[in-house]
Amino acid sequence: MDQTELLQQTCHVGGRWLAADDGSTRDVIDPATGEKVGSVPHFRTQETKRAIDAAAKAFPGWRDTPAARRGELMQKLADLMMEHREPLAILLTREMGKPLAESRGEIAGGVGYLRWFAEEGKRIYGDTIPSPWPERRLLVMKQPVGVVGAITPWNFPSSMIARKLGAALAAGCTMVVKPAPQTPFSALAIAVLAEKAGLPPGVLNVITGEAAEIGAAMIDHPQLRKITFTGSTAVGKQLASAATANMKRVSMELGGNAPFIVFDDADLDAAVEGAMIAKFRNTGQTCVCANRILVQDSVYDIFAQKLAAAVKELRVGNGFEEGVTQGPLVNSAALKKVEAHVADVRAHGGTVLLGGKPHSRGGLFYEPTVLTGVAADALIMREETFGPVAPLVRFHDEKEAIQLANATEYGLASYFYAHNLARVFRVMEQLEYGLVGVNTGMVTTEVAPFGGVKASGMGREGSKYGVEDYLDIKYCCLDLGH
Ligand code: ADP
Repeated sequence: MDQTELLQQTCHVGGRWLAADDGSTRDVIDPATGEKVGSVPHFRTQETKRAIDAAAKAFPGWRDTPAARRGELMQKLADLMMEHREPLAILLTREMGKPLAESRGEIAGGVGYLRWFAEEGKRIYGDTIPSPWPERRLLVMKQPVGVVGAITPWNFPSSMIARKLGAALAAGCTMVVKPAPQTPFSALAIAVLAEKAGLPPGVLNVITGEAAEIGAAMIDHPQLRKITFTGSTAVGKQLASAATANMKRVSMELGGNAPFIVFDDADLDAAVEGAMIAKFRNTGQTCVCANRILVQDSVYDIFAQKLAAAVKELRVGNGFEEGVTQGPLVNSAALKKVEAHVADVRAHGGTVLLGGKPHSRGGLFYEPTVLTGVAADALIMREETFGPVAPLVRFHDEKEAIQLANATEYGLASYFYAHNLARVFRVMEQLEYGLVGVNTGMVTTEVAPFGGVKASGMGREGSKYGVEDYLDIKYCCLDLGH
């Protein structure tokens, strides 16, 4: 299958490929060129209900399929994704803009989750509990929660789905996925390959359309038992409160405001290397992106110079061009936010060391930027920038660093560079975050739990903890009689 065959422009429901009832569609635009990539159906409430019905119909069969068999089908899907890695990566770069090399990495990353969960599904153990009654036996079994609704963002259009799908399928759940309107094709391509892999109809359904109506239909449907969402804190809070009012399980991967702390005993070259990954991967558009770079007084100036030198080497352009490391921002709202954050830093007395303006290519491209002298009350310290802007904030001692790092409602990723062992432990323990990178700017892997605290959400993805989010606990008490 090539890239055009994988460009599926209808939704996948119960093993069929469907248009919206009224035939309406929405266009998907390549952010690098402004050209139309294709269009997808605009589903509303009724079509969503039908997709959930299809998932509910498929659920008992999938639940009762032995984990080893489920794992084989998941591995088959993973094989097909790797076989089609290049066309999938091309599709991803077209709809989202990230450099092709990063798209290839994303496909492989998603496959890592599928393969890991394909194995983990075989290890969903229960317990036997020593009984307080001589005639009774107490057992705990774990069972799939049921149909799961997944709502995903545009910044990782493929792997955000793979990591949710992997855990759900391993647990024995069926799924309705609603990808972001900017990037539906990577999701639909997974459905094409899932069908080819032999996943039974209805086990994976992918629908596109009116976000609020789809979300509400998921929350209202009695057979949908869990919502897993990755996206903004604002939408996540809305969905979580509505879902819990209906007693549905929720997993929420929401916004971040990651601190990246450089202490005076850090290896500065390693810290620059880490900051480049933590800040500029995906053009700064990830929820684990370093948003605030906090640097200790004595190494501040030298770190700023070294970072600016590295940032200068980044190449901005269409993700398909050889050597490009920074793609466009996803849309004009994203570009405006970046511009507003930089303007606000300047208004608060900060300085542009590098970049600081839209790129001369025009469109949605922005120059990779380093800002110094950033004030603690600048907007960029509170809000997620989601763009290629590195604001450097000066701190004096460890206490101040911790205080600055934790002074946010968010708690997803954090990073710090230091060598003193006692300091490493102190800081690691005091950071109020779900993820801590120590002397590294990249922590994500399918074998470790990914997720946030505070306003960054609840639940974990990946690892043995990730599958628990898709399981209910059933306690069984057997009375053997006298
Ligand atoms: P972003 O600002 O990064 O696009 P959003 O939280 O708006 O983040 O979007 C993440 C996902 O949530 C997307 O798939 C989007 O369509 C969906 N979404 C947005 N609003 C709602 C809503 N009210 N109900 C359900 N899903 C929504």
